Amino acid sequence: MALSGVEIFKLLPKTNCKKCGYPTCLAFAMKLAQRQISLDSCPDVSEEAKAILGEASAPPVRPITFGAGDKAVKMGEETVLFRHDKKFVNPCAFALEINDTYSEEEISGLCEQVLDSEIDRVGQKLKIDAIVLTNASRDSGRFEASAKIVASKADGVPVILNSEDPQAAEASVKLFADKRPIVYPVNSANAEPMANVAKANKAILGVSANGLDELSTLTEKIKSLGVQDMVIDSGARKAKDIIEHNTLIRRAAIKKNFKPLGYPIINFMQREDSVLEALMASIGVLKYSSIVVVSKIEKWKNLALFTLRQNIYTDPQVPMQVEQKIYNIGEPNTESPLLVTTNFSLTYFIVSGEVENSKVSSRLAVMDCEGLSVLTAWAAGKFTASKIAQFINESEIEKEISHKELIIPGYVSILSGSIEDKLPGWKITVGPREANAIPAFLKTRAT
Ligand code: SF4
Repeated sequence: MALSGVEIFKLLPKTNCKKCGYPTCLAFAMKLAQRQISLDSCPDVSEEAKAILGEASAPPVRPITFGAGDKAVKMGEETVLFRHDKKFVNPCAFALEINDTYSEEEISGLCEQVLDSEIDRVGQKLKIDAIVLTNASRDSGRFEASAKIVASKADGVPVILNSEDPQAAEASVKLFADKRPIVYPVNSANAEPMANVAKANKAILGVSANGLDELSTLTEKIKSLGVQDMVIDSGARKAKDIIEHNTLIRRAAIKKNFKPLGYPIINFMQREDSVLEALMASIGVLKYSSIVVVSKIEKWKNLALFTLRQNIYTDPQVPMQVEQKIYNIGEPNTESPLLVTTNFSLTYFIVSGEVENSKVSSRLAVMDCEGLSVLTAWAAGKFTASKIAQFINESEIEKEISHKELIIPGYVSILSGSIEDKLPGWKITVGPREANAIPAFLKTRAT
């Protein structure tokens, strides 16, 4: 159970020495109870108190690193049910299932698809993060041979070894030594040998149960066998059950600090129908999955799921923004067009992408509007004629161009006259309202 601020206070040194940055031990205790600071900030806390408080102040969903190196996936550490309360911490991973019944070429090809899945969206690299190798053949030799192909072709992509046979799991897990793989499924029948495999190979265990009661009993049993790092699968496969179980798991962990369910969740969302699979996977993204398993890599599906994940795991209280400056797109010369917009990341990346698509080298003046989009910034009085004029003057862009023409977004066409008043000698041109019309707009001007 989570400790209250007063209970935590009783365990602190009570010297009010302020080394933690708070004026009193009680203030520190209150912050610790709200999980807004770490116990490490108090250098004088006793070992005995550390043992009690360390457990009580640990994140309700256990932090686990799956995989190793630059492709490692961080999971867990979540502290809230709703993203408007606080940012969700670690984005879920997408994992592609590969069956060991596939040919060597097919397995190699799928590994390549995983490695090629990365896209760049608003400055972030998004990709399929992991591979699930399934022992569909039920042949341990074939499973090991397939694991060898994955180990050599997947270039460090984190791997889930999906075989309930402890011997097959043991033979394959050695191929991923020090790579923190997940061994799945661990159930009541194989818990002990699988725990031994995990301990010997520093692997994470994927615990699979039939319902939440069995799941919580199993995680406690596995913990007593000496394995701390687990991901959990309640056995839910239908959309309704997944939403229900995942919500109950997260609520039990966050609200009740119920440790037996305080682990990252893995959900298996494979479907024959790609649209259905995309919908199922989106449920996982929205409702607390840490690993979402899919059966196919399709670009359209990736784009939709990556975008959804990016939105859900963006801090809604902090606008994403880019630096205020004049960005060169292509190789602009003194004659090249000059456009202005705001510094909301999405606005910047969409507008700069469309300018790039036009193949007309240009300059994009990106103005600091505290990360707001054009219309919002205008409505909030941050993208006004006088502020735009001030920004253009202070940028000294006049020294680099031979014209004095500024293209403003179509949505703020109302500002054109007043900007001309504030920027004497400049011609203000109203650009398109929508970014996707920019290429045609720029090309027409260039001819
Ligand atoms: Fe109290 Fe520790 Fe903070 Fe000092 S550093 S005020 S002892 S909580």
